[in-house]
Amino acid sequence: MISVSRVVKSYGSGASQVRALDDVSLSVAPGEIYGVVGQSGAGKSTLIRTINSLETPDSGSVSVGSREMTKLGGRELREARHDIGMIFQHFNLLTGRTVRSNVELSLEITGTGRSRRRSRAMEILELVGLQGKADAYPAQLSGGQKQRVGIARALASSPSVLLSDEATSALDPETTRQILDLIRQLSKDLGLTVLLITHEMDVVKRICDSAAVMSQGRILEQGRVEELLTTDRSLLGQALFPLGDLPETSSSVVEITFTGVPTDRPVIAHLAREHGIDVGILGAAVETIHGRQTGRTRLELPGDRGTVAGAIADLRSQGLYVEVIK
Ligand code: ADP
Repeated sequence: MISVSRVVKSYGSGASQVRALDDVSLSVAPGEIYGVVGQSGAGKSTLIRTINSLETPDSGSVSVGSREMTKLGGRELREARHDIGMIFQHFNLLTGRTVRSNVELSLEITGTGRSRRRSRAMEILELVGLQGKADAYPAQLSGGQKQRVGIARALASSPSVLLSDEATSALDPETTRQILDLIRQLSKDLGLTVLLITHEMDVVKRICDSAAVMSQGRILEQGRVEELLTTDRSLLGQALFPLGDLPETSSSVVEITFTGVPTDRPVIAHLAREHGIDVGILGAAVETIHGRQTGRTRLELPGDRGTVAGAIADLRSQGLYVEVIK
């Protein structure tokens, strides 16, 4: 649905040149929610601006649906943009217009007639849970309600793609969860493909099917979230389950990731009983990812090589993902 292929985008020139996007490729399947995470300056905003053609890449190509955005201009490009809705961190609502009028704005741009605009605005406001606020002004709304208006406005013209630029970064944790759940629901109900950029790991945990980790204009890793969690040295895995620095120890250290298996399995007692290993727990984190309990535990396994290797093989045979750290 969205395909970014080998995109390069630089700003400035000479010694002060910055490669905001340095050979970036990614692909978002129809109906998928794809998160791009990274620190400030990683290139996330440039990526999103490139996807909706607010920026032209120096090289590479961007396609949304069947359209190659990088080849379009004028009217074709404007039409292609109607298929892309966008929501923003600071909502970008017009303060002098009512909620309904803000939502109607995107339909005015597409030339939709007045009565159709009005009925569509009411329909989409109901979908985001704001039917009672049509005549309110943005200043009368909470942050969460403002973002619901932003979502309604983005979706009024029935785009197939929603781009989200840090849409929950200005919201408190509870409101963030509600907005993320709304996005997931809308994605499911409307078959929307969603690409979001964020620096918040909670966003990835709650709604992303796939994710890419960006730094300094490059994608360092990408894939399905559950697959990344069971990939050795995954940056996303480490960010979702921060277990701190490795302490000094002469023993072997492993990290066990539990996905889709009961997290209350007595792994440690089993290691002690079956392998005679006096297990030390160096860290543990449990998170709900996509509504499933997922955990990572860092264990210290004292003992000779053979015993430890046998224990690791045993854990793996139980379907656990075991990464040998040292
Ligand atoms: P992020 O969204 O991850 O914070 P950006 O895409 O905004 O990252 O920025 C990536 C890099 O590109 C940064 O070093 C930033 O300073 C630079 N940059 C972004 N936009 C511009 C611009 N319009 N002019 C010059 N430099 C820019």
